[in-house]
Amino acid sequence: MAHIIVPIKQVPDMERVKFDTEAGRIDRSSASGEINPFDLNALEAAVQLKEKLGGTVTTISMGPAQAESSVRDSLARGADRGVLLADKAFAGADTWATSYTLASAIKKLGDYDLIVCGEKTVDGDTGQVGPEIAEWLNIPHVAYVSAVRDANDKTITVTCDMESASYGIESPLPALLTVTKDINVPRLPSFADKMKARKAEIEKWSAADIADVADPANLGLKGSPTRLNKVIIPSEEGRKGEMFRGNLDEATTKVADALQSLGLLGSAK
Ligand SMILES: Cc1cc2nc3c(=O)[nH]c(=O)nc-3n(C[C@H](O)[C@H](O)[C@H](O)COP(=O)(O)OP(=O)(O)OC[C@H]3O[C@@H](n4cnc5c(N)ncnc54)[C@H](O)[C@@H]3O)c2cc1C
Repeated sequence: MAHIIVPIKQVPDMERVKFDTEAGRIDRSSASGEINPFDLNALEAAVQLKEKLGGTVTTISMGPAQAESSVRDSLARGADRGVLLADKAFAGADTWATSYTLASAIKKLGDYDLIVCGEKTVDGDTGQVGPEIAEWLNIPHVAYVSAVRDANDKTITVTCDMESASYGIESPLPALLTVTKDINVPRLPSFADKMKARKAEIEKWSAADIADVADPANLGLKGSPTRLNKVIIPSEEGRKGEMFRGNLDEATTKVADALQSLGLLGSAK
């Protein structure tokens, strides 16, 4: 497997981050950034495949300048090359614009055999970006992968966990996987790996650097079809309970009356 690409997102430490309830958004300045936990599983899966079959692993992240620390961390955890897409033009992107920008940058990276994403992020939590990247690149994808059963230069066979069943799926390469936490236990970087990563070069690409593969009109807030008006935290309504007593006829009449008064039954014709 010659080249594996892992898109990684920097997310706030969710144990510490505060929510700005007035503004209705996460206060990202309240906690340090780290690699999205599911992306650590994606990176580990890619590095294990590299160790078995050879090749290189490239991580790519779209985010603010601070996300450089997460790209650097990915090098300490086994990636060979790290690219950060940072530009004001990328800011405010919804999942459509995020996946477009990442897919464009992947085209610019050149040939690849496999792309491995996390199943979702712990902040945005949509799980849309991975499959969307596959659509932009017109390659097959398998979501919710919990194991790689076999892989060679032409195909990959994986276990995909859906709610009611697990499926064994073989896909031709190039393909994109999104992985669950069950796929592996991410390795911890050694001190030597961290020191090496500290000195490594992180490539930074701006909108101008991908202008040959990406239409500027599709980037950032300008390119996002989603408009976020407000984020609200739903109030927690307690459960209500009521006991209806009597014989079967009386009790069912009382239940029907109660449902009727709550507007949960249509009017009888
Ligand atoms: C109108 C609007 C405006 C927004 N403005 C902002 C904003 O200003 N700032 C902001 O931080 N967020 C903003 N967001 C949220 C932003 O859309 C999402 O954070 C982003 O699209 C990724 O979606 P997600 O976190 O749900 O990823 P998911 O789809 O849950 O992620 C799945 C996988 O895709 C990959 N991935 C996802 N995002 C990235 C990334 N950035 N780089 C590399 N790989 C990635 C990872 O492998 C990840 O595991 C905005 C959203 C909307 C709708």
